[in-house]
Amino acid sequence: CSSEPGGSANAASPPPGEGVRTTAKREGENWVINGRKKWVSSATGWNREGADLLTVVCRTDPTAPADTAISIIAVEGPVTGLVFERAIDSLGHRAHLVPQFGLKNVAAPHHNLLGQQGAGLALTAAAFTGTAALVGIFGVALMRAAFSFALDFARSEKRGGVHPIIEHQAVGYALADAKTTIEAARYLSWRACHALDTQSPAAEELSVQAKIFGSEAAVRVITDLMRVVGIDSYDHEAPFGRLLQDALALPIFDGGNLGIRRRQLHTMLKSSDYDPLTASGAA
Ligand SMILES: Cc1cc2nc3c(=O)[nH]c(=O)nc-3n(C[C@H](O)[C@H](O)[C@H](O)COP(=O)(O)OP(=O)(O)OC[C@H]3O[C@@H](n4cnc5c(N)ncnc54)[C@H](O)[C@@H]3O)c2cc1C
Repeated sequence: CSSEPGGSANAASPPPGEGVRTTAKREGENWVINGRKKWVSSATGWNREGADLLTVVCRTDPTAPADTAISIIAVEGPVTGLVFERAIDSLGHRAHLVPQFGLKNVAAPHHNLLGQQGAGLALTAAAFTGTAALVGIFGVALMRAAFSFALDFARSEKRGGVHPIIEHQAVGYALADAKTTIEAARYLSWRACHALDTQSPAAEELSVQAKIFGSEAAVRVITDLMRVVGIDSYDHEAPFGRLLQDALALPIFDGGNLGIRRRQLHTMLKSSDYDPLTASGAA
């Protein structure tokens, strides 16, 4: 549970920025958590009593700088003090529960703090490095489904003409460009996953690149393939609407590409010990 109403791209902001607003105070043997969260997958559970386990990003030191003030506390369900506000009616990912909710005096044993107190931002960043590579794969899957439909359509449909539309150079070139992008996203994402599995020093850079490239490619390639199929792509009988609705989330969830992901790459590039060949040479 990281995201909060009012935005979370600047979780590490110094004052007067709010950064992480949810707080946890030590009271006896417990942490007592107060705040609000938004967009957290399945967090309230379908019964609105909380997921079996929530890992809540919260401020455990009200005055320290963000890199030592934020911690992650595990909260086991059912959660007393979880206040359901609404289930977000999202554009895509329609089977995905993304609620907005409050945490009012939610208690968790003090030993439920994960890792070191104050190291929550680093833990969150590490978790979101792993998920970044997977978002690249989500993009590949959506593009692949759209491509498969468009290729079949182009091979079989003449649209009242003499030849299947794949014989038109414009159609063939558009399909070739789409397929090239899919393979580029696939191999970058695979490479990022491999770097994560082998704990390569290139893992963070490759994962963020896979997230940005795969997510933005998915939105672009699906709309390009809709132009190949033409007007019948706009009918819900074709898969494009569903695929595009899901693809639209990829650049903006799991750390938005503008507010979070490109900033991560920018920070790496500015670092004096950044070596551009680390990502190029990773096994
Ligand atoms: C299906 C789905 C599932 C999700 N699951 C979870 C989950 O399990 N847990 C969870 O915590 N969240 C979850 N989220 C929420 C989501 O991952 C984050 O809230 C989102 O990535 C925050 O990114 P943002 O960049 O839009 O942040 P915001 O803070 O909302 O920023 C909004 C915009 O402001 C601009 N901006 C802000 N700050 C800067 C800056 N410093 N530099 C440049 N531009 C800036 C950017 O244009 C950015 O796009 C989910 C979302 C969806 C759709």
